[in-house]
Amino acid sequence: MRYIIATLGCKVNQYETQAMETFLRERGHVHAAAGESADAIIVNTCAVTAESGRKSRQLIRRLKDENPDAVVAVCGCYSQIEPEAVKELGADVIFGANNRKALVDAVEKAYLSGEGCRDIDEPFKRRVLEKLPAGAVSGRTRAMLKIQDGCVNFCTYCIIPYTRGRLRSLPIEDAVYETAKLNAEGFKEIILTGIEVASYGADLPDKPNLADVIVACAEAAPDMRIRLGSLEPTVITEDFCRRLAATGRMCRHFHLSLQSGCDRTLKAMNRKYDTAHFYSAVELLRKYFPNCGLTCDLITGFPGETDADQLETLDFIQKCAFSDMHIFPYSRRPGTPADSMPDQCTRAVKDARAHEAQRICERMHREFLDSCIGQTLPVLFETSEDGYFTGHSDTYVLVKAKGEALRGKTLDVRITAVDGEILLGELI
Ligand code: SF4
Repeated sequence: MRYIIATLGCKVNQYETQAMETFLRERGHVHAAAGESADAIIVNTCAVTAESGRKSRQLIRRLKDENPDAVVAVCGCYSQIEPEAVKELGADVIFGANNRKALVDAVEKAYLSGEGCRDIDEPFKRRVLEKLPAGAVSGRTRAMLKIQDGCVNFCTYCIIPYTRGRLRSLPIEDAVYETAKLNAEGFKEIILTGIEVASYGADLPDKPNLADVIVACAEAAPDMRIRLGSLEPTVITEDFCRRLAATGRMCRHFHLSLQSGCDRTLKAMNRKYDTAHFYSAVELLRKYFPNCGLTCDLITGFPGETDADQLETLDFIQKCAFSDMHIFPYSRRPGTPADSMPDQCTRAVKDARAHEAQRICERMHREFLDSCIGQTLPVLFETSEDGYFTGHSDTYVLVKAKGEALRGKTLDVRITAVDGEILLGELI
C-alpha cells in the first residue's frame, strides 16, 4: 500500500504520526513518492483554534482531490470533536485523538476490503496511555518520546481537554526502556513531550512527578541530552530545578505557557498562576540554568482584555526578557467558555496587540542572540553544507561552524558572531 500521511498541530500529533508511520513501514507499506498517487491518505488533524479546524478540512479536501481513488483516513483532535464534518468531506476511516495503532489496522482493512469504519471514543473514559514507539525528529540525532497525554486544567479558551481527555502518563519504567533504546540506537537528544507534562504522574499509582521521570531518563541515557516540550510554569519549583540541573544533561531551553502578562486576564483564562508566580519560575530557571533560552506562548486580545491590560502584558514580557515568543491573536473556539464571553475584541484589536508584542519580541530575540557572542555553547550538529556544519545549541538556537564529520556530534562552540537567525562560531 502506498500511503501519504499529513499532520497539523503540536509535537504530540507529530509524535503520533511518526508512530503510525513506524507501524505502516513495519508492515511493508511505503510512502508514496512525490507526484505518485496514494492508495491511502491519513490526515492527523488539529482543533486548537477555529483556524486549525479550517486548515484540517482544507488539507483533507486537497489530498482527497489529489488522490481520488485513495482510502481517506482522518484522526486527531478535529475529527474527535467534529466527526460528522469529517464524514461529509468523504472520509472512509474516522478516528479521534486516540488508538493510533487501531487506526492503521482500519486503514489496511479499508484498503483491502473497501470497508470503512468510525471509532470516536469518549476522551474522559480513557484510562491508559497508548504506548507508541518513540522515534526520530530529525535524522538519527534527535528523537521524541511522548510521556503524557490529556489535560484537566480547562483553561477557558482551550478545547484540548475535550479532545485529549483525562491525564494519562507513561509509567517510568516504560519511559526508561524507550529512552535507553533510543540511546542505544545512537540518538544524541531526546525531547520529552506531552499535552500537559507538568501533570506527569498524577494518574499513576505511586504518583511520580515530572522531575522523577526526567532524572530516571537521564540515568538511562548517558549519551543523550534532554529537551523538554512546553511547560506549565506551576511545575517550576526550587526542587524541580535543582534535580534537573544535577543531572547535568538538561538542554538550557524552557518553553513556558504564559498566555497573558496581566493577572486579571490570567484569571479570566482560568490559568493556574499569576504574574508573580510566573516571574518566580523565570528567576529559578535563570538561577539553575544561567543564560538559558526562555520562550513562551502569548495570546493577545482575549475577551474583556483592555488597553491597560495589554500594557501590563507588554511590561511583563519585557521584565521576563524572553529569548523568543509564539504570539497568537485570540481565536474563538466553539465549545469553550471563552467563546461565549462578553467583550470579544475585534480582529483589528487582536492583530494590533499581537504586532505590538511581536515588535518587543523581535528586539528581545535580537538581544538574546547578541548576548551569545563570546559564550561557549554545546551544539548537536545535524546538517552540513560547503564545509560548514549546523545544529542546535542546548539553548535552542541554530549554530554554524567549520569542521569535518561533525554530524551527530555534540561539541562545544565559542560564538563569534550573529548572522540573521544563526550564530556563527569556532569549535573549541
Ligand atoms: S493547560 Fe490549558 S491550554 Fe494547555 S492543554 Fe490544558 S487546558 Fe489547554
